[in-house]
Amino acid sequence: MKVLIIGGAGYIGSHVTKAMALAGHEVTVFDNLSSGLLVNLLPAAAFIAGDIRHADDISAAFSRGFDACVHLAAFKAVGESMVEPEKYSVNNLSGTINILNAASASGCRKIVFSSSAAVFGSPEYVPIDEDHPKNPESYYGFTKLEIERILAWYDSIRGIKFAALRYFNAAGYDPSGDIVGLERNPQNLLPIVMEVAMGWRKELQIFGNDYDTRDGTCLRDYVHVSDLADAHVNALAYLEREGKSLAVNLGSEKGVTVTEMVEAARRVTGRDIPARYTGRRAGDASSLIPTSALARSLIGWNPRLSDVDTLIKSTWDVYRTYRTPTERA
Ligand code: UDP
Repeated sequence: MKVLIIGGAGYIGSHVTKAMALAGHEVTVFDNLSSGLLVNLLPAAAFIAGDIRHADDISAAFSRGFDACVHLAAFKAVGESMVEPEKYSVNNLSGTINILNAASASGCRKIVFSSSAAVFGSPEYVPIDEDHPKNPESYYGFTKLEIERILAWYDSIRGIKFAALRYFNAAGYDPSGDIVGLERNPQNLLPIVMEVAMGWRKELQIFGNDYDTRDGTCLRDYVHVSDLADAHVNALAYLEREGKSLAVNLGSEKGVTVTEMVEAARRVTGRDIPARYTGRRAGDASSLIPTSALARSLIGWNPRLSDVDTLIKSTWDVYRTYRTPTERA
């Protein structure tokens, strides 16, 4: 299929681009490079520079004719969304509407959408299944849930079939080393642990050790980004085969606490990784663990790389090739 990958130069998008190309699709990346990186553009993909906030940019891209698109272009910082909601409204919400209108006008009837565990808010029970109540606790999470609802309307009115993939904690890097871009100003645990291991940060702050978990630190489900990428390929095949929309949770179903992650990182990297317990971070749930049974049964998804050691080693193998956060050694 001819597939347009919107946000394909970003961290997850570049892994999706690789997986789609390996699956035999003809891939084109559309990205404004605001957080995506040129170094992430894979030779297998054509590239269109453009911005989803500009309806003309995205219409021009779709007019080239695509069978399907993957939409990963979004702002994703939960904390920022609570202080600058306008950015999230314009990019995540209006940008997605521009995409859907352009897809609709051009006859593209399949979309794989990057959704998030943030649609659920604090769990009322774990593991979280797809029917769990959806009460996002950040504006970011709200934008993802709202887009899922808009997708359902474009499905019923325009016949655009969608796969909403609700990622839990994405981590890791392409194990064969084809993707080496580091996110600028990372906010997530593993990149920050790596920056401490590299000596770019003095220490890791562990946000709270008084949670109701086995060691008091937050329990999360980390899933390898290449496993997530495979889910996009499988989801697209499902849309083609079944002609029906779906929304599924994507996690490894292996809960790991912050302390366990740090200890594993010390072992795998052989570095000290100084860490200090600090207060809780606002908005953190104690445990966020999904069941991915539906993804297994509907799209045949089986994560293969989401064990802690592979997550850390594949990330470390990229970080250690850098001298500074922006300069490769
Ligand atoms: N975390 C931490 N220190 C950091 C960054 C994250 O202790 O510098 C914790 C955070 O409180 C959460 C877990 O690591 O329990 C994963 O956080 P991340 O921001 O990566 O993802 P989230 O679960 O918030 O989507």
